[in-house]
Amino acid sequence: MTKKDEEKVNRTISSLKDHGFEAIYVKNKDKARAEILKHIPPTAKVGIGGSATIREIGIIPRLKEQGNVIYDHWNEELSPEQVLETRKAQMTSDVFLSSTNALTESGELVSREGIGNRTNSMCFGPGKVIIAAGTNKIVPDVHAALKRIKEVAAPLRNKSLNTANPCVETGVCQDCNLPTRICRITLIMERKPVLTDILVIVIGENLGY
Ligand code: SF4
Repeated sequence: MTKKDEEKVNRTISSLKDHGFEAIYVKNKDKARAEILKHIPPTAKVGIGGSATIREIGIIPRLKEQGNVIYDHWNEELSPEQVLETRKAQMTSDVFLSSTNALTESGELVSREGIGNRTNSMCFGPGKVIIAAGTNKIVPDVHAALKRIKEVAAPLRNKSLNTANPCVETGVCQDCNLPTRICRITLIMERKPVLTDILVIVIGENLGY
C-alpha cells in the first residue's frame, strides 16, 4: 500500500470511530475472515446481506463448518417463498454480515438497493452488524459516494444480474424508471445507529462492487 493510500485508510478509520462505529483495517480477505469469525459463536444465527464482498471473503463455508444457522437469500436452492422468509429473518439475526457501496474518508457508509432487507438490517434489528469493504470503496465524502454508486457499483451489479437496465450498456447510471430498476433505497449512515453496534472492517484489497 502506498503512503497516500495508508493515509486515506487511516483517515477513514479515524472518522468512522469519531462517528461511533468500531473500525479496523486488515490486510487481506483471509485476515478479514478470521476477524469476522472472532465475533460469531457457533450458536449465532447469521444473516448474510446481498453482498459480493462477503462471499469473496469466503466466510459462508466457514460458518457452515461451525454449524451456524445462516440466512442467505442468494442460496439458489430456496423457493421464492423461502427467499422472502430469509430476507425477513436477516433483520432479527444475531449477527448480520454485509458490505456497503461506499465508505467515506469523512466517516459515513453509503448503500443503495432495491428491496431493503440489507439497508434495514444494517440499521436496526440484528444483535451485531459487521460491514466488510475493500479499499476500492473508499471515497472522500458522501457526494463522491453517491457518484461511485452511479458510476461503478450499480452498473456492475446490474451487469452481474444481467438486467435489461440501460446502465448495463452505458456503464453509467441513466436514472431509469423501469420496473427492473434496482436503485430504489439509499441509506446514508452518518453515525452509528443508537441501538446497533457496527464493526467496519476495511480490507486492503479490491473486493465487491
Ligand atoms: S437507476 Fe437504473 S440506470 Fe441507474 S444504475 Fe440503477 S438500474 Fe441502472
